[in-house]
Amino acid sequence: MGFLSDRLSRIKPSPTIAMTTRAAGLRAQGRDIIGLSAGEPDFDTPPHIRDAAKAAIDAGHTRYTAVDGTPSLKRAICDKFARENGLDYAPSQITVGTGGKQILFNALLATLDEGDEVIIPAPYWVSYPDMVLLAGGTPVVVECGLDQGFRLTPEALEAAITPRTKWLILNSPSNPSGAGYDRDAMQALTDVLLRHPQVWCLADDIYEHLVFDGFAFVTPAQVEPRLKDRTLTMNGVSKAYAMTGWRIGYGAAPESLIKAMAKLQSQSTSNPCSISQYAAEAALTGPQDYVTESRAVFQRRRDLVVSGLNACPGIECPVPQGAFYVYPSIRGLIGKTSAGGIAISDDEAFANALLEETGVAVVFGAAFGLSPHFRISYATSDRQLTEAVSRIRRFCESCA
Ligand code: PLP
Repeated sequence: MGFLSDRLSRIKPSPTIAMTTRAAGLRAQGRDIIGLSAGEPDFDTPPHIRDAAKAAIDAGHTRYTAVDGTPSLKRAICDKFARENGLDYAPSQITVGTGGKQILFNALLATLDEGDEVIIPAPYWVSYPDMVLLAGGTPVVVECGLDQGFRLTPEALEAAITPRTKWLILNSPSNPSGAGYDRDAMQALTDVLLRHPQVWCLADDIYEHLVFDGFAFVTPAQVEPRLKDRTLTMNGVSKAYAMTGWRIGYGAAPESLIKAMAKLQSQSTSNPCSISQYAAEAALTGPQDYVTESRAVFQRRRDLVVSGLNACPGIECPVPQGAFYVYPSIRGLIGKTSAGGIAISDDEAFANALLEETGVAVVFGAAFGLSPHFRISYATSDRQLTEAVSRIRRFCESCA
């Protein structure tokens, strides 16, 4: 009997964090590294949000709060859902946690028993399968390739559902592909779910505000109100307001699930940081200029990266609808050898060779469950992106 639990051996450390750490290590050795692996906005949190946090400290809001969020933040979240998503929730149907990550984790731990299945379209955010495994469930990965715009089709969803299916996790716009589901595509999926009353929908809407070219964001409970009583709508302030370090995420769901999640949180972390809760309230209720301004900047960077990558021999980069990632295919490079003599046998070899030979850090597609691809986070300066893309082009041109 080992000291560490069997449960822990089911999972691996986050590959995105591993790549970011590796890039930081090379930089510390003096290498000229461009890091495109981390998924966070490169902007500062807007000043009025920072001010609200300072005021909260001065007002003495530095003690424990209600386990899953202050009443005033919950009210602000209800108003947000009504205003932006046409969803009517009561504060008793809202939970607040330490990042969207904790909301997802709580929901899965509170509902999964050994053998319960969770459908996860691939490419997926790296944490979904491991969270399901930690909770004792079984991830059912459904590959959604570039040819279908990285989107789950109703036919593939129908085929993946079994009597043991408990959740479908849907992330629109997606990390890592940036693919978004418009109303028709979403409705086609919710129609399938309506036929299977045992299946709940976990909507990860964390990139809701990062949508481009006028793409109209929709969330499942809004598109199909009959699914609302078996949907957890998850969101947070990390990506929308450049608040990754503040650690506030939230969810809306039927009261029974919200209570179960609060019970779990009461025995793990208790409340999310009191000061961050006041900051999140200011984010949701205050001026929304940052949201529109950052969207315009990200759209410009997306265009820069997509056009640059499509000029690289062997790379095909579709245009994403949202988030701040691109997920190009490297099918045209597989089987070639880099100038430095590394055989590009798969996307992990590609990412390693790219880092070694050009200093550009990206995350390989296998980490997200769909190869041969890689993910670039373009949440960095235009200058860095331009330089990174030209290094990638030189790398591809020299592969033979
Ligand atoms: N969901 C997706 C798809 C993400 O990419 C992330 C963060 O990278 C999260 C959820 C969690 O975000 P946070 O815990 O910062 O709210």
